[in-house]
Amino acid sequence: MKERKYCTFCGKELVLKTLYDGSQEKYCDDCDHVFFHTPSPCVIVMVTNSNKVLLARGLGWKHPYWALISGHIRSGETAEETVVREVYEEVSLEVSSLDFLRTYVLEVRDLLMVAFKVETEGTSIKKSQELEEAKWFDLYHPLPLRPESTAAHVVKHVFPKMMCRGPERAGKQMHSKETMRTYFDLHK
Ligand SMILES: [Zn+2]
Repeated sequence: MKERKYCTFCGKELVLKTLYDGSQEKYCDDCDHVFFHTPSPCVIVMVTNSNKVLLARGLGWKHPYWALISGHIRSGETAEETVVREVYEEVSLEVSSLDFLRTYVLEVRDLLMVAFKVETEGTSIKKSQELEEAKWFDLYHPLPLRPESTAAHVVKHVFPKMMCRGPERAGKQMHSKETMRTYFDLHK
């Protein structure tokens, strides 16, 4: 993670300021502004249509897993607007309903992931050039999501009994304690 060195507003070099709780943050004494170390916000979206869920694979992925639609929240955009934009940009589908699920921390990438479930108007996919593949999967069968990935947790948040499997385990459902643990259990 690259450390911020200069003030975004005036360009002055930042100093370290000790806050009331004893923590130290980067600070511009000209603007009297504290630059908190914050994660990048992004959305992760479970796109559904009836009993189907949309999964995608990015270009050049070496692993065999599929993923949910996700994307960074841009400046000036609400998380809900990001969801509608990303779903349209990535697979050309219109969102007909949108539900907030919960948030996830992805520490390795310094992300705060805001999870949503959306229902789409239609099912005809026109994938973007960023994707190698995008298609609908039956929600009542194990999904080829990486076990313990944020995507797998999002699906299991909505369907607690949902199983995820890698393609190498095709046909074999995983019922281990590992796959059923919630994200909170893993990160507390
Ligand atoms: Zn400044």
